[in-house]
Amino acid sequence: MKLHNFSAGPSILPQEVMQQAAEAVKELDSSKLSLIEISHRSKAFIQIMDEACALALKLTGLQDKGYKAIFLQGGASLQFLMTAYNLLENKAGYLNTGTWSDKAIKEAKLFGEVVEVSSSKDQNYNYIPKGYEIPTDLDYLHLTTNNTIFGTQYKQIPETNVPLVADMSSDIFSRPFDYSKFDLFYAGAQKNMGPAGTTLVIIKDSLLGKVTRAIPSMLSYQVHLDKESMFNTPPVFAVYTSMLNMRWIDAQGGIEALGEQNAMKATLLYGEIDRNPLFEGFANKEDRSDMNATFNLKDSGLTSAFDSLCETAGISGLKGHRSVGGYRASMYNALSIDSVEILVNCMQILEEKN
Ligand SMILES: *Cc1c(COP(=O)(O)O)cnc(C)c1O
Repeated sequence: MKLHNFSAGPSILPQEVMQQAAEAVKELDSSKLSLIEISHRSKAFIQIMDEACALALKLTGLQDKGYKAIFLQGGASLQFLMTAYNLLENKAGYLNTGTWSDKAIKEAKLFGEVVEVSSSKDQNYNYIPKGYEIPTDLDYLHLTTNNTIFGTQYKQIPETNVPLVADMSSDIFSRPFDYSKFDLFYAGAQKNMGPAGTTLVIIKDSLLGKVTRAIPSMLSYQVHLDKESMFNTPPVFAVYTSMLNMRWIDAQGGIEALGEQNAMKATLLYGEIDRNPLFEGFANKEDRSDMNATFNLKDSGLTSAFDSLCETAGISGLKGHRSVGGYRASMYNALSIDSVEILVNCMQILEEKN
């Protein structure tokens, strides 16, 4: 029996996806060769890359809408600077909703003027700012749709006429919304898409070509687009396993169906956090993330009792990020509602005993 894996990332993937990935490492589709020893220029791998790109566009509803998908390396952290390198000519706006936004801002400042359009830093990022004015002369506006560390999530995508760029690392493929509002979005694989090692970037065709600086080949979106993610050797295992996971998502009914399940899991856990007198949530209620639920024990004296209940129940990865403390339950697509029920049960046992 596997543990109930609530890890924030790298994180849970469907059992069958890991099984298929393991098989392909031994032998890819009766080819008598392993996935990780074939040429990335082989017909077999080009098909895998093509399917991965097509699935990413299909799941986000962007097929035939003037977008392209590419798979890069360097994680979401490299995207913090690649976005600015490729898009920031004069001035960019950033919505600062947590550690990851903050890091993106720091990188962007190397390339031009950065306006912090809104920030929730004043309350340790426990909410999503609203009611701010977005300047109209920005090269782009950048936001983090889900704040993995603090457990907040944009429920509404800001309305603006400037190009919208988003870090969706921890909620890509988790809920339906209108992805065509974005001109570029990216996601490091290891939260909700696949194993660490690749980053999905989806770009609108009309977005690029507006900055005057020279861009090194490896950092140029245009180069990677022109070479269809094969400018250099792609991370074949991470792309293949992400592709398998996207197939799995598609077979579940896509992000509509998974979005419903994710909302059910979140409702169940937040319901218990609010009902149980021993616990309190960290994030502002209306901004709570369906992916990462942050919460605390009101009495820290119960920590070891709760931790040992969780451990006995086979719960793993519940420790909060050091900048928030307490607990964080990450409920990515592959986590079943049964695992959430087990966690809720531990919270109730703690209440009965204290
Ligand atoms: C994990 C995470 C990152 C960092 O991703 P890396 O792939 O480690 O660079 C960036 N943004 C968000 C929202 C994340 O959750």
